[in-house]
Amino acid sequence: MVDIRSVHKNFGSLEVLRGIDLEVSTGEVAVVLGPSGSGKSTLLRTINHLEKVDSGWISVAGSLVGYRRRNDKLYELRERDILKQRTRIGFVFQNFNLFPHLTVLENIIEAPVSALRRPRKQAVESAERLLARVGLEDKASAYPRQLSGGQQQRVAIARALALEPELLLFDEPTSALDPELVGEVLDVIKDLADQGTTMIVVTHEIGFAREVADTVVFMDEGRIVEQGTPTEVLDHPRHERTKAFLSKVL
Ligand code: ATP
Ligand code: MG
Repeated sequence: MVDIRSVHKNFGSLEVLRGIDLEVSTGEVAVVLGPSGSGKSTLLRTINHLEKVDSGWISVAGSLVGYRRRNDKLYELRERDILKQRTRIGFVFQNFNLFPHLTVLENIIEAPVSALRRPRKQAVESAERLLARVGLEDKASAYPRQLSGGQQQRVAIARALALEPELLLFDEPTSALDPELVGEVLDVIKDLADQGTTMIVVTHEIGFAREVADTVVFMDEGRIVEQGTPTEVLDHPRHERTKAFLSKVL
């Protein structure tokens, strides 16, 4: 489903991604761990072309991300086609990023109605189902500021799901939350995993990684240092850098 090959990304003279290779199959959950600055967010952002790669390529569900290939050359897609491609990949950020002036329901139907041109009635029905799925059926007409952080993040997840994405990306979805609210968000992500959603999740929640990940990826300094099952990477890390990192977060 996701195929990342030899991806390099520099910011000026800073090499942030130094040859990333990663495959995630349909229905799999990959959890990405690594110290601050190791390139985790940048990697996620390249997957929906919020950052352009300098070399290498990424494909999602059989389509090259951001480019099209013709006569063995890559041509960048037009802005319109990039936006269209992005609707197939859901992205949930650390800080929820809900529209503050829109209600919960309006937040969720915004993209389906404006980007996918779904009829409003259909979008509302689907949003109501999604709100029930994240346990917030009674909050449809609330504004983001009236919700707890955990509730806002669950709305953000419902909003990402409203586009029926083939892939969901999460960038530290619980790290801005008070500790007692982390569980409710992780439970929603776990449910999605149980239903076979393909996901790449950047998180420091090791318990979650152990329970939900099919594959755990440890990044450091722009490279994947180690990858394997949760047992392999979390219980029997082979690299010193993985061991040192885990001893700090466990
Ligand atoms: P954290 O755990 O703190 O979120 P991260 O692993 O997500 O870290 P990135 O955000 O991917 O790390 O950043 C990797 C490196 O790239 C950092 O040194 C960061 O300062 C740098 N960087 C990220 N985005 C930009 C940008 N737009 N311009 C310049 N440098 C950037
Ligand atoms: Mg980050």
